[in-house]
Amino acid sequence: ELILGIESSCDDTAAAVVAEDGTVLSSVIVSQASLHDRYGGVYPEVASRAHVDKAIPAVRMAIEDAGIRPKDLRAIGVTRGPGLIGSLMVGVDTARGLGQGWGLPVLGINHLRGHLRSADLNERRVSYPALILLVSGGHTLLAHMRDQDTISLVGSTRDDSVGEAYDKVARMLGLGYPGGPVIDRLALQGQDRFGLPRPMLGDGLNFSFSGLKTAVRRLLESDPNLEAADVAASFVAACLDVLTQKCERALVEYPSESLVIVGGVAASPQLREVAGKLCESLDVKLCLPPLKWSTDNAAMIALAAWDYVRAGQGTDLAPTSRLSIEQY
Ligand code: ATP
Ligand code: FE
Repeated sequence: ELILGIESSCDDTAAAVVAEDGTVLSSVIVSQASLHDRYGGVYPEVASRAHVDKAIPAVRMAIEDAGIRPKDLRAIGVTRGPGLIGSLMVGVDTARGLGQGWGLPVLGINHLRGHLRSADLNERRVSYPALILLVSGGHTLLAHMRDQDTISLVGSTRDDSVGEAYDKVARMLGLGYPGGPVIDRLALQGQDRFGLPRPMLGDGLNFSFSGLKTAVRRLLESDPNLEAADVAASFVAACLDVLTQKCERALVEYPSESLVIVGGVAASPQLREVAGKLCESLDVKLCLPPLKWSTDNAAMIALAAWDYVRAGQGTDLAPTSRLSIEQY
């Protein structure tokens, strides 16, 4: 029994075939990064047009790579939100058409629950209770899961997400889009020497990253000749301090067996390293998705779809730009 996942919430068109135990038979990601690079961010109209061109080829490739036929599928899971409405509509319409043609049920999946499940792809890693840190392009949040079916949001950002801050700082430094990987590489060559603010460190489990971003802008305005590597290193150090301290506090408040870090920023080698140390000192199991599935992909959507099948959820196919991680 297999599920076909389709993901088109932002700037990547993706399709994948996944078994109920998380085995990934195929995962195709068609990136649009080169189309958006010149805008320094995702240009929604360009994104939906590219999805129209790429959705069917991505599905065809995923089916071929998996070496299966549509009749081997049990259902299609498609991201219905949160994300860019135009992009989501393309994915949902494609899934609907295929579902009708192949006689398969179509399930509307919450992209955030997809990220959540990315940590169990190809191998079961998460044990419960678990604390989730989701750090993506659009979200930064902490959630506690008592068991696999119970998610409570326990903290989130009041303004920008960490990923967004990475992307904006990259843009200020003229490094292109997406900013995460370039900032990470540059930071390795610099020193944390500007004493940037650690916003809301003392303040519960919520986050704020817009002040940090502004501090970087002021710093660059004060002296345009600063070493970019030092700026990147100072920025990354501030982000990591905030993220690890919030995780530590959350783990005290919500004792957990595992700390699960998912979303695009979970691809950061620096974050992986500090999280590893934190978990070692607290005797908590660190669960990370394989690198290639930290950022958007359809395998995580297909694995989440299996949860929906078991829970009898996913009948709502209406694309929506906002959706909480607590919702299906
Ligand atoms: P959301 O899932 O909230 O809707 P999204 O799908 O756009 O947002 P993801 O694909 O999960 O977000 O993550 C993209 C973000 O991850 C970007 O902001 C990018 O800069 C960041 N990112 C990617 N790789 C790295 C890295 N190595 N280090 C830090 N950040 C990274
Ligand atoms: Fe995402």
